[in-house]
Amino acid sequence: MCGIVGYIGNKKAGPILINGLLRLEYRGYDSAGISTIEKDKISIMKDKGRVKNLYNLPGINDLEGTIGIAHTRWATHGKPSKENAHPHMDNSKTFSVVHNGIIENYHELREFLSSNGYKFYSDTDTEIIPNLVHYYYSKDENNDEFKFLRAFKNACSRLLGSFAIEILCKDYPNNMIVVRKDSPLVIGKSDGENYLSSDIPAILSFTRNFYLLNDYEYAVLSRDNVKFYDKDLNEINKKTETIEWNASSAEKDGYQDFMLKEIYEQPTAIRETIGSKLNEKLECSFEELDFTKDYLKGLNKIYFIACGTAMHAGLAGKNMMEKLCKIPTEVDIASEFRYRNPLVDDKTLCIFISQSGETADTIAALKLAKSNGAKTIVITNVIGSSITREADYSIYTHAGPEIAVASTKAYTSQVVLISLLCVYFADVLGMDNPNVTNLKEEILMLPKKLEETLKDTKKIKDFAKKVYQEQDIFFLGRGIDETTAREASLKLKEISYIHSESYAAGELKHGAIALIENGVTVVGIMTDPNLVDKMVSNLQEVITRGAKTLIITNQDIDEKRFDVVINVPKTSPFISPILAIVPLQLFAYYISKEKGLDVDKPRNLAKSVTVE
Ligand code: GLU
Repeated sequence: MCGIVGYIGNKKAGPILINGLLRLEYRGYDSAGISTIEKDKISIMKDKGRVKNLYNLPGINDLEGTIGIAHTRWATHGKPSKENAHPHMDNSKTFSVVHNGIIENYHELREFLSSNGYKFYSDTDTEIIPNLVHYYYSKDENNDEFKFLRAFKNACSRLLGSFAIEILCKDYPNNMIVVRKDSPLVIGKSDGENYLSSDIPAILSFTRNFYLLNDYEYAVLSRDNVKFYDKDLNEINKKTETIEWNASSAEKDGYQDFMLKEIYEQPTAIRETIGSKLNEKLECSFEELDFTKDYLKGLNKIYFIACGTAMHAGLAGKNMMEKLCKIPTEVDIASEFRYRNPLVDDKTLCIFISQSGETADTIAALKLAKSNGAKTIVITNVIGSSITREADYSIYTHAGPEIAVASTKAYTSQVVLISLLCVYFADVLGMDNPNVTNLKEEILMLPKKLEETLKDTKKIKDFAKKVYQEQDIFFLGRGIDETTAREASLKLKEISYIHSESYAAGELKHGAIALIENGVTVVGIMTDPNLVDKMVSNLQEVITRGAKTLIITNQDIDEKRFDVVINVPKTSPFISPILAIVPLQLFAYYISKEKGLDVDKPRNLAKSVTVE
């Protein structure tokens, strides 16, 4: 989750750009840089580490340019280093570029450019962009006012992946151009100056008037003007939107609560988490890991160890790991694992999951596993957090900061990362399994399917309004859906304070069915085609005893049998929790709102549990 800032006006750009980057720091990054134009020459200042390091770069205060672009990088291609930090230039030093996102076909484009004589000085995917722009620019003999825009558009139309790009050209010192696809970017309009940023709060102190860009729309900024073009460079009109938020609601991007914002951020969080780990050619790679086939084959067990919601992400991983990699896999609660003398040795791989990376029980469990000789991987959302300093390997979800105590986007990002890890292990092991290919295809389609899932939320809101005063709510599922039932039940407890139980549906009749009486709400989750009939029978058992039913499904069922049915998109059953949980996150959210509770800060709970 990197950040982008831009400025064009009558003030020195440098200090404004650095200030903007400081406001985007919360997004997480590993290096920073700025670029301005001075007397028809492009300057670039960049470094690894914190934004404030830029203040120490010799000459940074002498930059006179009143136009500039800036970036904080969250490395996806190439390690965090000064060379890989943005901005990047083309070989002729005509263009400088900052980019947020991933260019999926960069290998192919880099080969194309190399065969045309271009050289590369970084390991980033981004560096192909200024060079590709230069390639088209140098071939265009028409030196009119649109030459820069034409070259940029020709280059961008060859890019696959996700991007927000700002570009400067030394031949056009009064313009800066931007485009976006699936990555955030807003334009702030002011008097005689214009701003760019990855999000509104970073530039809200300068202006309240914003232009919002759609995918593949180009904006050409000058001091007094912003012109917009569609993907074929037809000029289009846009109106500014006036933002009335105060500072704190600005951080919430207009959402009432962080939790709601974070629920809606899930498509982006997942897109970023998939990142460069899985490409369109279905090649999966984890630069951070160096496991050999022999090592994985020699494992006697894999453990997922975590607490709370993160433990549910582990549960979603268990089935995948066993089915795809044929390695016995267990899931354990960190506070149990550490005190039960678990059977762990150098043939055990322990995977720890912690959103904050500060969870005390998980850190202690990791130390124990290590001292027994196991290799340890941590999955976390926070770079440099305590657990990453202890683990042998750290792999990151790119969910961005999660402020609400009840986890939503961190959970779905964890399940995505675990599914990527499973297909990666399956590839290393050389498993020839059609399920692996299918899962890869489905992982790539997840962000779009999540967007679809979030489109219509009326039914769930209405149902929440109906049941918010209830004392008990039950969640039932079989197989992978039982994991979703557990997570949904936990979400409801956390923020609505309603007593709730989750059950493997077939287990209900062995005891808990005694609690079902007239009017009790039962939520059934059905996404596995092999288990639908069994689930329908279990639900019939509770309906017979007077239960009201809410069903989350992606299967063709006889909807008339149930009170409310919410359909989610079909996907591989391995990753269905990522889609099926979304309406149930909203269910918990709307119940909590209906009860007038503090959704973001539920009683007795803390975001990062640093005590045992
Ligand atoms: N993919 C680019 C890189 O690795 C940009 C990463 C980002 O979004 O910060 O340099």
